[in-house]
Order: sequence, then C-alpha cells, then structure tokens
Amino acid sequence: MSFRTRFDVGSPFSRRASDLARSQFDAFSRQLPLLYLILVINSVAVAVTHVDSAPAWLAIYVPLAMCSACVIRLLVWLGRRKDLAARTDAELAARLKTMMRLLVVLGVSFTTWGLMLYPYGDPYEQAHVAFYMSITVIGCIFCLMHMRTAALLLTAIVIVPFTIFFLQTNNGVLIAIAINVLLVSIAMIVILLTYYRDFASLVESQTELRAKQAELQMKQAELQAQQVKLQKLSDENVRLANLDSLTGLPNRRRFLSDLEALFQSQTGRPTRFAVGVIDLDGFKQINDLYGHGAGDRVLEEVGQRLQRFLTPAMSLARLGGDEFGLLVTEVPDSQHLLRLGDAICEVLRAPFEWHGITARLSGSIGFATYPKAGRSPAQLFERADYALYFAKENRRGSTTIFSGEHEDTIRELGQIEQALRHADLEREMTLHFQPIVHVVRHHVISYEALARWNSPSLGPVAPSAFIKVAERSDLIHSLSIVLLRKALETMRGWDATTRVSFNLSARDIGSADAIGDIVTLIRQSGVAPARLTFEVTETGVIRNFERAALSLQTLKQLGVRISLDDFGTGYSSLTCIHRLPLDKVKIDRGFLEDIEADTAAQDIVRSILELCRSLKLTCVVEGVETVAQMNILRSLGCTVMQGYYFGPPMPMAEPQPATHEVL
Ligand code: C2E
Ligand code: CA
Ligand code: CA
Repeated sequence: MSFRTRFDVGSPFSRRASDLARSQFDAFSRQLPLLYLILVINSVAVAVTHVDSAPAWLAIYVPLAMCSACVIRLLVWLGRRKDLAARTDAELAARLKTMMRLLVVLGVSFTTWGLMLYPYGDPYEQAHVAFYMSITVIGCIFCLMHMRTAALLLTAIVIVPFTIFFLQTNNGVLIAIAINVLLVSIAMIVILLTYYRDFASLVESQTELRAKQAELQMKQAELQAQQVKLQKLSDENVRLANLDSLTGLPNRRRFLSDLEALFQSQTGRPTRFAVGVIDLDGFKQINDLYGHGAGDRVLEEVGQRLQRFLTPAMSLARLGGDEFGLLVTEVPDSQHLLRLGDAICEVLRAPFEWHGITARLSGSIGFATYPKAGRSPAQLFERADYALYFAKENRRGSTTIFSGEHEDTIRELGQIEQALRHADLEREMTLHFQPIVHVVRHHVISYEALARWNSPSLGPVAPSAFIKVAERSDLIHSLSIVLLRKALETMRGWDATTRVSFNLSARDIGSADAIGDIVTLIRQSGVAPARLTFEVTETGVIRNFERAALSLQTLKQLGVRISLDDFGTGYSSLTCIHRLPLDKVKIDRGFLEDIEADTAAQDIVRSILELCRSLKLTCVVEGVETVAQMNILRSLGCTVMQGYYFGPPMPMAEPQPATHEVL
C-alpha cells in the first residue's frame, strides 16, 4: 500500500501532521509498557507500606483494582499494537484521544488514591506517599516525552493538587518536598518542550525528505517511461530507414551496412561469400505502358518471387528502382552461384499477371565473390555491378560471375579512359563512312559516319570501347561535338544530295544542353539538315523516354531524320516506336548471324519489316556480310541494307560507290 493511499493525505500540511502523529504514536508505544510498570510497581510499594495502617479497601482493594486495570489495559495494548500501525489517520487520532482520556482518569485516580492514603500513615509513611507521588509523576512525564499535551495534562493533574495539598500540611519537610517537586516539574516541562520541538522538526524534515524522494521517484519513473518511448520511436525510425516501403525488403542502406558487417566478420578468416546484383530487363516499358501502379505491383511480385530462394545463408534487399541485391554467405563453388542465378532468372521470366494484363520481363544477375573479386565491400559491390552490366550487354536474362577476364577489361577500360582524357580529340579522332544501300534501286542512300581513334599511346582503339568509356566519364559530349563538326565539314565538300547518318549517344539525347549545341552546330555549318540522319539506340531512348522524345522532336523540327539503331536488342514496344518522331529503324545485326538456318530470326525480321511498313518507316538491316544473307533478306521484303558485303567503313574524301556486286 502506498504512502498516499494509506494516509489519504492531500496537502503538505496534513501530511506533516499525520506523520507527526504517527511518529508520536510509535515512540509512545515503545514507552507505554514502562509507564504502566512504574505506576503499578510504585503503587504496589505504597499499598504494601499502608496495609497495616489504612483500611483494607483503601490499602488493598482499590490499588488492586487500579493495578489490575492497568495490567489488563497494557496487555490489550500490546495485543493491538501491530494493527494500530496500519490504521488510518482518523483512527489514529481517535486512539490518541482515548489515550488522553485514559491518562486523565489514571492521573486523577492515582492522585486521589495517594492523597486519600496520606492521613492513615505515620510521618514515614506520609513521606513515602509524597515520594511516591512525585517520583511516579516524574517517571510518567519522562515516558510521555513525545506527547506534549499528555505530559502537560498529567503534570497539571498531579502536580497542582499535590503541591496545594502538601503546602497545606504545615509540615516543613513536606512543604519543601512539594516546592522541590514543583520546581523540578517546571524544569522538566521546559526540557520536555525543547525536546518536543526538536522531535517535531525532525519528523517534519523526515516527512519532507520522504516527499522529495517520492517526487524524485515519480520524476524518475516518468523519465524512464519517456526514455522507453523515445527508444521505441528511434527503433522504429531505424527500422523504417532500413526498409523499402514498397516490397518490405531491406533497402540499399541496410544492404550496404550488412555487406560491410559481413566483410568485417570475414577479415582474418576469409571464407567465400558472394554479392549479387539483380536488374530487371524490360521493367521501364511496363512502367511506361501500364503506369507506375502496375510497375509497383511487378516490383512487389518480384520481391516475393526472390524471397522464395532465401535460405539462412542468404539475404535479399531492394537497392532501388528495379535493382535487387543478394548476399550469399555459403558459396561452395561458382557452379553453385550459376545454378542459383539461373534459377532466379527462370522464375523472373514467368509472366506477371494483374487485372487481366500479362507482362513479361527478365532479370540479369551479376555476382562477385570474396576474396577473389574484391578486397573491400565497395570493390565487391562495384564488381558485382560490373558483372551485371556485362550480363545485360551480352546475355540479357542470364547470370554473370565477375572473372579475371572482366578484371582485364576493367583495366583496359581504365587505360582507355586515361588516354581519352589526355587525347587531342581534333587531331586523333577521324571518321570512316560506310554505305547504306537500296538493293533494288541500286544506289547508296546514305553513308554512316563511324568514329575512329588512333591513340598515340594505345594505337587504334575500337569505337565500341572508347564510346562506352566516353559515355561513362562525361567525355562523350565534347567527343560528339568534335565528330559531328568533322562529319559536317566532310559533307560540305560532298555534293548536296549525299546524305550522312551520324550516331548520337544516349547521353547526348538525354541532355537538353547537348541537343542545343548540336542544333547550333548544324545551323552554323551551312549543311542542309535534310542531308543528315541521327541514329539513336533503342536502349538509349528507353533510359529516359520523355527526355529522349523531346530531344528527338527538337532535332526533327530542324529538318533532320531520325533512325532507331540496334532495334530488337532492347525491349521497345510498338507504343514506344509510335510515340517517337522516327523515319527509320535499323534491325540489329545480331538477327543476321544465323538468318539462313534460323527460321525464328527470319520470322522476327519479317514482322519488324511489316511493322515498319505499317508505320511508314524505312527499315534498314545492318551487318549483311554475304550474298546469301542478302538474298534471304530480299525474299523477306527488305530493300535497304548495310554491311561489309556492300562496303566496309572507310575514310572518304569523296563519296564512294558501293561494292560492284550489288549495283
Ligand atoms: P553501330 O552504330 O551499330 O555501327 C555499326 C557497327 O557495325 C560498326 O562498328 C560497323 O563497323 C559494324 N559493321 C558494319 N557492317 C558490318 C558487318 O557486315 N559485319 C560486322 N560484324 N560488323 C559490321 P564500329 O565502327 O566498330 O562501331 C561500333 C559502335 O560504336 C557503333 O555501332 C556505334 O554504336 C558506336 N559508334 C561508332 N561511331 C560512333 C560515333 O561517332 N558516335 C557514337 N555515339 N557512337 C559511335
Ligand atoms: Ca549506327
Ligand atoms: Ca547498329
């Protein structure tokens, strides 16, 4: 039971009063038996000395009755003492009042008895009565030390009649005793009052201390509750900060910190583990075609499908966009990773269905294993990303594990980047031109300008390599401008009917500034824009469709033509093509590899040709190397072609006719 409920105290004042009463009661309880003992023993002693002189009722029966009452009272008190401690303030006050009344009765009874006994004794016995009364009252006053009112009351009840009585006896000794006792009693009262004040202030300061402690405890409890609340809040924040809200999977931040932790735990005893990065192919088109709601559902579903692969030795996270991350802590060998990757790719190829719509996509995965592929978390992650990039470039929808070969490529690309940064583009870059021919009308439609770089330090570098490096390192913009200026210069020297196709990078069409510079350059060159075709790759357009569409529109308004390059390698849909201001589509040369034997490739080419016809787009097939390929393409209805068969890219001061076999 708490302090407050037991005493039911409201104000600090009543609390103090209650505490004082309780302390008084406690102290008095300890001294009460002593009080009764003094009273009974002293009274018995006086009674015994008067047995012969006083009548029996006064010397035996009255003291016997009074002493018995005292003993009974004492026993009852001792029996109840424990209960009293737990009583309420009101009950305690009532008990104190009863005690006070009892004290008056006792004081009056014993004083009266003593004074009544006095006349029967001889002078010794009379002196005994005086001694008995004075010593008993002094003893009792001592016992009542903590009960100021009771002590004063008892002093008044006993000492006043005692003094008056003995002053009237005309006995000099007894009068002296009476005066002595009176003075001692007064001195005792003074001491008692001082003692009582100290006692009361001690109790008061204890009460205050207890109140302060209770207040402190309450504040501490409040503080603790607040801390618990804050902790919960911060735990929740940490959880949310590490969670991807769409899929419920850990997010990129969590993934990287898990990777860091895994890495730390491995130092000293390197065991193999792998970092995997998964990227969806064709997700952007789902977003563009069906809206972001559909895209979100696909991502949720992908998250669920991937979670099915989880074991205690694996963790999964969404890294952002359509990219997911994997940590695999038990990697017995590369075959294990390949099997896991292929199983994941397989599951991602299954159709996604919602609201009657069916969409298909695929996922590519790149893995990097520790310690072979990287010695730091950042390096491992970078290399897994490189492996993914490699998979997407070369074998979409499959798994690539970072290898020594990749490391060589990275090193080579690093060298290319260094050389490119220090290159004198104007001097080192040249253009080769490759004819694009109309195989029925037998004439060159245009020439595709292809960049060539002869680096003083590295020698000739393949365009596929240096263009990639330039795109990744922000050098592409200045490179495109230098090349376009050279192309326009060449065109100025040619007759006004000769056309040129020029390749633009995804970065060029993704930047309004770059397009602005290109437009200015064409205007300043004096070359008719109608002689120019810009080739943009399908993947380059898809990366940022809206921006690309805007850029192409700007170029188109200038009067140039637009051709969609490498068609079939990405995930362009009919709608994508339809929304772009296109004039031509170039079927990727990948379809030509087995076109003679592969009927599926023939079907694809045929359907793209039909699509172009219905959209009124010119269709160019590139990479034609043999007469057989050309004949099949012709039989499929293709009329415009490009490839080594018609002429390789070459430096051209003047436009060259295509190879004679065709024309
Ligand atoms: P692309 O735009 O698809 O260019 C066609 C590529 O196919 C050229 O490679 C060309 O030499 C090659 N090619 C032409 N006919 C045949 C054939 O019959 N068989 C085979 N196997 N290949 C053939 P190249 O010149 O090495 O260029 C590679 C890529 O580099 C180009 O692919 C283009 O994406 C990029 N590129 C080249 N020049 C430029 C440029 O000036 N600017 C930009 N942004 N990219 C360029
Ligand atoms: Ca091209
Ligand atoms: Ca191409």
